Amino acid sequence: MSAPPVLSPFATSALIDIPFKMSSPAAPAIRTVDKEGKEITTVGFQRFGFDCEVPLDVVRALYLRPHYVITAPTSNDATELDTREDEQHARFTQGLSAYQSKSIFHPETQSISYTTLSRFPPVKLLPPSNRKRVLVTGGAGFVGSHLVDRLMLLGHEVTVIDNFFTGSKTSVSHWVGHPNFELVRHDVVEPFMIECDQIYHLACPASPPHYQFNAVKTVKTSFMGTLNMLGLAKRTRARFLISSTSEVYGDPEVHPQHEDYWGHVNPIGPRACYDEGKRVAETLTYGFHRQDGVDVRVARIFNTYGPRMNPYDGRVVSNFIVQALRGEDITVYGDGKQTRSFQYIHDLVDGLIALMNSGETRPVNIGNGDEFTILEFAELVRDIVARVQTEDGEPPKRRVQIIHGPMPTDDPQKRRPDTTRAKKELDWQPRWTVAMGLEEMVRYYKAKMAEGSL
Ligand code: NAD
Ligand code: UDP
Repeated sequence: MSAPPVLSPFATSALIDIPFKMSSPAAPAIRTVDKEGKEITTVGFQRFGFDCEVPLDVVRALYLRPHYVITAPTSNDATELDTREDEQHARFTQGLSAYQSKSIFHPETQSISYTTLSRFPPVKLLPPSNRKRVLVTGGAGFVGSHLVDRLMLLGHEVTVIDNFFTGSKTSVSHWVGHPNFELVRHDVVEPFMIECDQIYHLACPASPPHYQFNAVKTVKTSFMGTLNMLGLAKRTRARFLISSTSEVYGDPEVHPQHEDYWGHVNPIGPRACYDEGKRVAETLTYGFHRQDGVDVRVARIFNTYGPRMNPYDGRVVSNFIVQALRGEDITVYGDGKQTRSFQYIHDLVDGLIALMNSGETRPVNIGNGDEFTILEFAELVRDIVARVQTEDGEPPKRRVQIIHGPMPTDDPQKRRPDTTRAKKELDWQPRWTVAMGLEEMVRYYKAKMAEGSL
């Protein structure tokens, strides 16, 4: 395989001119289309003087590994292995495999050897006046790691602080050692000193089993963590964005939920540590804004899914995909008539960056309005998993059944964002269909399974 084209910088003209082609003519291209059927070739956009546009292939090469892990040879066929490795990487990374680590699975010993990158993905070379020093708390988590990828590719200096409660070092390990990147193990309930221009405060477990695992710690993280990060923003005059949640609306009596709705939250139920934690975090944020003039942004994020989501975090998307891939029954809680609206990770990252760089200080819903009952969603996941498996020449051995389990306490019955404000003030709206994002996520988990890490 010939060397991939080097992409630097990511100027818009470069996006058009640089051919992101695989060298292997036999390798299939992944065609990704948006809600209007137009091909998606980039993520992000230029808005509020902040360019966050990156070729989709470049972002994708950071998380979408080959379908099948490379299995170490039992004999002396190393050359054949190298060729196979390169071909397999080329299939998914479209020639960008030089920027991926390759995990090699040894079936005899059930072990895996990790390699490191020989070079980092090219990042934009920004003039110092445009380069931001960005702190991402919870940057080793699902949302954080995708935000970090984007900010790094765009050429900013990124510091991640994370206590690795639900996040993992491996989600950002491809940047460790890069001159623009720093990873610090730190718990946000303790103060943190750094000089920075922007703070994305994401640190907080997000899945119900995780945030209920230690409810007191979740409240501490939400309150003390936010207090510490707001204090940091006050001292450094950094702009502060908090990832709040649709859970501040609780089990809503208004549908869809708009930002002026005050919510319907049980303050003492099992979800309260998270819901009330985020509500008080918003209260603190506006306290610092009014009293101390801290420049704040509040993103109310609705259910988001995508690669790098912890497959065992108990959230519905990861649960359903993993169950279907394993050929196990899909467990719908309750009758499955409760609804959720699912947003793909790249749309969320676009929305967060747009909000951070906009002038909007009021809360902004960021979510996808495509609403499903959980039962419909289970059927969709089952169909997509079966299609991907069939396309890969491994059709499912049996049709996965949908079974029902007990309904969790205080599970919201309806959820769909009203994103009028985001559209008007940020000129942002989701581009990814739920099915398109699910397909990519299925391929990601499938590769993880083949690798033996799931
Ligand atoms: P996640 O659990 O994958 O990531 C959270 C990260 O925060 C992890 O890396 C975790 O280790 C870290 N963390 C937790 N407590 C910490 C502490 N005390 N100190 C330092 N680090 C800590 O969850 P996610 O889905 O990536 O969510 C990120 C943020 O977005 C959270 O604030 C969450 O409330 C918010 N959010 C997410 C969704 C969603 O659907 N993913 C929806 C609404 C809001
Ligand atoms: N759910 C389900 N089966 C699962 C996991 C979740 O039916 O294996 C349901 C859950 O009861 C809720 C919805 O899916 O109604 C979304 O749950 P999730 O934990 O992903 O997030 P929530 O939106 O409730 O915070």
